[in-house]
Amino acid sequence: MSENRNQLRELPSVDRLLHHPTLRALRDRCPPVLLKEAVQDAVAERRHRILAGAAPLPAAELAEDGLAEDAARRALARLAANLRPVINATGTLLHTNLGRAPLAETALAAITATARGYSNLELDLESGARGHRHDHVEELLCRLSGAEAAAVVNNNAGAVYLALAALAQGKEGIVSRGELVEIGGAFRVPEVMAASGVRLVEVGATNKTHLRDYEQAIGEHTGLLMKVHTSNYRILGFTAQVSGAELAELGRKRGIPVMEDLGSGMLFDLSDYGLPREPTVAEAVAAGIDVVTFSGDKLLGGPQAGIILGRRALIEKIRKHPMARALRMDKLTLAALEATLRLYLDPARALREVPVLAMLAASGEELRARSESFMARARQLLGDAAGMEVMPAPGTVGGGALPLTELPGFALALSPRACSLDQLAARLRRQTPPVLCRIHEERLLFNLRTVRPDEEDALLDALRLALTTAHE
Ligand SMILES: *Cc1c(COP(=O)(O)O)cnc(C)c1O
Repeated sequence: MSENRNQLRELPSVDRLLHHPTLRALRDRCPPVLLKEAVQDAVAERRHRILAGAAPLPAAELAEDGLAEDAARRALARLAANLRPVINATGTLLHTNLGRAPLAETALAAITATARGYSNLELDLESGARGHRHDHVEELLCRLSGAEAAAVVNNNAGAVYLALAALAQGKEGIVSRGELVEIGGAFRVPEVMAASGVRLVEVGATNKTHLRDYEQAIGEHTGLLMKVHTSNYRILGFTAQVSGAELAELGRKRGIPVMEDLGSGMLFDLSDYGLPREPTVAEAVAAGIDVVTFSGDKLLGGPQAGIILGRRALIEKIRKHPMARALRMDKLTLAALEATLRLYLDPARALREVPVLAMLAASGEELRARSESFMARARQLLGDAAGMEVMPAPGTVGGGALPLTELPGFALALSPRACSLDQLAARLRRQTPPVLCRIHEERLLFNLRTVRPDEEDALLDALRLALTTAHE
């Protein structure tokens, strides 16, 4: 034991190590405070092992070169960003945990151009007078939806909250019991209503709600009729819900605004492209709904945003509500949203260039061919240690959209022999960039629907590294 204590004295000091060439070489890149912590950690780790171990450490473990290498590794790990790109090989297009929609190239360019300098964010260049940030996308949104006016906020949860508060604070909002949605996290229709100061009046039953249920619930305190798209579940079987058009007509007759939370908010009908039907924004507007809200980063494929469309007088009220400032969209999001919406002016271009739409439209055959050529490369690099095969594997939309839709597709499947599936998945998450995949029926599935072709090399590299460490 005293021998161990003697070893403590042999450990180089932190200051001495900081002058080691390996660590001096990092000075340009690594802030001094992180470098010092890294060295302290490396030394502390040796000290701990000396004191805890029965026998002294091998001399090599105390050598300065080795300690400096270890400290450099720790410093570089501290230097890496916490929020970093990952490869999504899950086949789920809109994964809230993975940041939902990847952006189109034109949106990325717009972000960079706007971020680098100043912009006319709230300035009317014609008159030189103050402008509104909403104006940059209002005309586009109206053109794409047929609405009179538009406002944009931070996300759809904010849009719903703000619209409720502006239209019906202190009054009652009537919602069908079949539409009391929970989105995940803290977003639940009853709770958002309560937070915005609207008293929820539930009508109908879980599976059936009729127009007369709304009619009978309308009273002197009614401030709003609300429809919520059941974006992440379906009620099937013996069911009835009131259509947007019927509800809009009832609202018009009784002088009560009608709002619809569409959730995902498609701008054009996907069934034209062989995909399942989602209600479109234009349909809701045409049905006569007064205020429609939806997300920017679900099937729209843009940045995180909440979009509010509808009748001008109501949109004005929403824009003027005191909470509008707290929920306002920032300029980089606005730049990305405008660029994304511009692509929709030509639906064929949107389908090619908005990544979510392009991934959604990829056919099963395309994915099979891509998976097979990827597998051929992987076999060449890795041999057949991992029992590779290409097998049918559906993709999903995710992010609370099209819950019942399975996108036909194929995936590369691995059944590694040297380690468990969980171990390999964990190793893949620790690569640079991290790789996320799915475990299904004793296999690890890599679905290329959500992997960009230019990410394939990095995916292959991550696989190689994760499988080689698996053999150690
Ligand atoms: C996703 C969703 C929301 C929340 O939208 P965010 O943009 O995530 O804030 C609200 N309502 C419905 C119906 C949704 O599907």
